[in-house]
Amino acid sequence: KAKESGKNSYKFYSKDMYDKTLKYIEMSDDLRKAIENKEFVLYYQPLIDLKTDKIVGVEALIRWYHPQKGFIPPLDFIPLAEELGYIDEIEEWIIETVCRQKREWEVKGFEQIKVSINISSTTLTKEGFISKFEKILNKCSIESCKLEIEITETALISDLQQAIEAINRLKKLGFSIALDDFGTGYSSLTYLNRLSIDSLKIDREFIRYIEDENRNERYIVQSIIKLAHDLKLRVIAEGIETYRQLELLKQKSCDIGQGYYFSKPVPSEEIEKMFTSN
Ligand code: C2E
Ligand code: MG
Ligand code: MG
Ligand code: MG
Repeated sequence: KAKESGKNSYKFYSKDMYDKTLKYIEMSDDLRKAIENKEFVLYYQPLIDLKTDKIVGVEALIRWYHPQKGFIPPLDFIPLAEELGYIDEIEEWIIETVCRQKREWEVKGFEQIKVSINISSTTLTKEGFISKFEKILNKCSIESCKLEIEITETALISDLQQAIEAINRLKKLGFSIALDDFGTGYSSLTYLNRLSIDSLKIDREFIRYIEDENRNERYIVQSIIKLAHDLKLRVIAEGIETYRQLELLKQKSCDIGQGYYFSKPVPSEEIEKMFTSN
């Protein structure tokens, strides 16, 4: 009997492997086509100053609309794009698109709005990436200080020294740097100590539970805010969904808020309407 079930599980495993491989090949192929056919769009989600309740920035978030399969979330294809070496090309497109959009907003009178871009650490440490970035910036006449680069700490781990060097170069060029998803990585405090960053984004997982008095999240968030302020960093809370969460964060002097409570990520025309009534 044991042998039989062993055999069955082997069969199941191998079928599973086969399906996974097939799906992988299909996805790789789809991704290649998506780049060629420009199936990506950027959505923008507002970042709100919690003292003035005004939009001070937006985060650019990539969206992939597959012609047959529909919407594919970024976390389902960004890691694959990194693995296949497509991420640079995608991110170059993102940077171009953001810079052009930023320029358009400036012309329309919304100069104050900063734009945040997520950059994969694979790209960050790639030879020639930073100079390419600078070129695009100059072409669109965008000031680097109007852009914030978001880096996820989990992704930094593979090569901390290289990441530090890349971040320092970006800082020198005038970009703002934010540490994304703070609290979910492995050695957050090491990063805080060794990277020259401007902002900390507290991960949504902590914000989700701050209303619950029986959980630790509230105190963790409070301590992160205190720590960030002591280090002269700006704190951004991700994933604010309720008024109560917002209230608590304001009480604890969190600087910036982002989340569905304010707005989901939306197309550029929609965010523009929000700027108008800002
Ligand atoms: P992230 O940079 O931490 O982005 C925040 C994510 O949280 C976004 O998911 C956003 O839609 C979602 N979010 C914002 N507010 C709320 C909320 O109140 N509730 C909930 N449940 N979710 C909220 P999204 O767009 O699916 O992106 C997921 C991740 O994919 C991003 O996490 C980022 O790591 C990556 N990503 C997205 N766009 C890009 C990109 O252009 N380049 C790179 N390298 N990565 C990207
Ligand atoms: Mg981000
Ligand atoms: Mg985040
Ligand atoms: Mg996140």
